[in-house]
Amino acid sequence: MTNFSQNFEADTGKILNIVINSLYSDRDIFLRELLSNASDAIQKRNFIGQTNKSILNNDVDQIEIRVNSKKKTLEIQDTGVGLDEADLVATLGTIAKSGTSSFLKEMQETSDAKSAAQTLIGKFGVGFYSAFMVAEKVEVVTKKAGTSEVWAWVSDGQTGYNIDKSSEDIPVGTVVRMFLKKDAKEYLDEAKIRSLIQKYSDHISIPINIENKDGETEQVNSTEALWTRSPKDISTEEYNKFFNTQFSTYDDPFITLHNKSEGTVEFTNLLFVPSKAPFDLFDAERKSKLNLYINRVFITNDLDGILPSWLRFINGVLDTTSLDLNVSREMVQDSPVIKKISKVLIKRILSELNKKLNKDPEGYDKFWAQFGKVLKEGLYEDFENRDKIAGIIRVFSLKHDKLITLKDYSTELALGQDQIFYLTSETLSQARKSPHLEGFKAKGVDVLLMTDPIDAFWMSQMGKFGDKSFISISRDSYDLSGVGEVEDKEPEVPEKDSSHILERIKNALTDKVEDVKISSNLKESPVRLVAGQAGLDYNLERILKAQNPTFESSKKILEVNIDHPLIQKMIDLDITLSDNLSRVLFEQARIADGEMPSDPYKFSQDLFEMALKLQSEQLD
Ligand code: ADP
Ligand code: MG
Repeated sequence: MTNFSQNFEADTGKILNIVINSLYSDRDIFLRELLSNASDAIQKRNFIGQTNKSILNNDVDQIEIRVNSKKKTLEIQDTGVGLDEADLVATLGTIAKSGTSSFLKEMQETSDAKSAAQTLIGKFGVGFYSAFMVAEKVEVVTKKAGTSEVWAWVSDGQTGYNIDKSSEDIPVGTVVRMFLKKDAKEYLDEAKIRSLIQKYSDHISIPINIENKDGETEQVNSTEALWTRSPKDISTEEYNKFFNTQFSTYDDPFITLHNKSEGTVEFTNLLFVPSKAPFDLFDAERKSKLNLYINRVFITNDLDGILPSWLRFINGVLDTTSLDLNVSREMVQDSPVIKKISKVLIKRILSELNKKLNKDPEGYDKFWAQFGKVLKEGLYEDFENRDKIAGIIRVFSLKHDKLITLKDYSTELALGQDQIFYLTSETLSQARKSPHLEGFKAKGVDVLLMTDPIDAFWMSQMGKFGDKSFISISRDSYDLSGVGEVEDKEPEVPEKDSSHILERIKNALTDKVEDVKISSNLKESPVRLVAGQAGLDYNLERILKAQNPTFESSKKILEVNIDHPLIQKMIDLDITLSDNLSRVLFEQARIADGEMPSDPYKFSQDLFEMALKLQSEQLD
């Protein structure tokens, strides 16, 4: 009788500990590893069976899970290819035999044991060893297809392992029997096992059965991975149901993207653009939600790096055979495979959104209302994709009173116009009434009304769309003469005392404004406030203040409509009254930009004084 006993090398137990504990932060996944091994073994048997029929299983392929609360064991039995003595030594003995000392040496040379374990882990098949996270002893009882002997491999994962012939009578396949640790009794709970299977292994194509309390076996997984089927055989209803059940959604997706990619990197994606924003869309974490599967085995749903955060509204599944199941998440995250897949996915999503924009603009605008703000984040933080994103964003046109594209705007420029004018504001209704727009309205020049806080940032950062610069009409300097369909009036000869008027206003507002200038943009309003040297307008300041309460506002430039009757009147007023009026004009310009008066008490006092003065003049 053969009895093969092998001690682990001195430090193997230690290595196993490090490997197991650093690779897997969550010990639940031992079940995923063992089920995927069982599924692999069954597929391997079927594969070999193609050329050697005697190997094939005449019964149904299945994986069976058994819990024994008395013996405190958890068993996973498969109808796979099985192992003989030599296979057991070569596979389950690997970590004990090969390269143990070099592994340890390399690990000691790296200060960060964790990252060392992760880089070196590819050399060792450790998926199986994750069983030792929950078991103090593991028995593998197995019969290889085409043979009749049953072998048993036993180990405590610390000292070594033992291989012996077994007297157990099992069909071809493998039983992995775990004697659970004292602190791992939770895995004796059938409900716990079920929920883990549903979470991690639901899409394994082999039926996974579990014995319930009444001794009946029940299939736990659904065995069918929707995304592995051909898109032409899948109905919209099936897609929608999958979207709802997998991602706890209630809406129908706006876009369903199901593709298979073959070549150097092989993967299948089934992605959904929801039609309704989830409640956590603006969580600070900005995590994308994509379920990553490796060969149908669920790996994680919170891996950074597959989709950028500006696409975090996408739900879906990515399944690839181009990654190893037992590499760490950090390795997956930084792998060139994921980078390649990410590129392809972003391209697919953007091109599909572009198609929708052209074919179904109404539907697109509903999507835009839900997710436009998120997509715009990409304009600010993703230089590589910025131009493509800019092609599919929606912006509000003053002239058309609806959403248009940047391309629409650039192809409909007014005579002599070569810039893209925009106004940032908190709301559309506030923007529409803004005095900043007066000159543009009079000349029929379109202005984009931008109401998302991020607009101020991406537009100034991006600077241009195509060859047209973005110009903030409350912040940047620009010249409207020569622009627009309406002929410019002969420049009016400034009234002889206009400089005197400016002087008066300036004196009244020395501590409040940076400068006072004649405006060429105002038509109805007497004054407006534009960004001073600091280059900030009130809207931008409000955004910055919301992020940083200690943010200090800077002085603005007061532009004066010198033709305005109120301004022209100023010269006739006594100095007290013209000071009152200057301050009131300044404060109301702030209000028009959505600010509080800088000095509300003085503001109301000025108003009263002016009213009283008016009254007494009328009584005279
Ligand atoms: P991997 O699955 O990545 O190869 P594992 O540590 O999970 O690494 O498994 C190591 C090897 O042990 C497998 O490649 C396989 O040859 C063998 N093995 C593990 N479980 C089974 C099983 N249930 N049936 C047959 N062979 C198995
Ligand atoms: Mg494995």
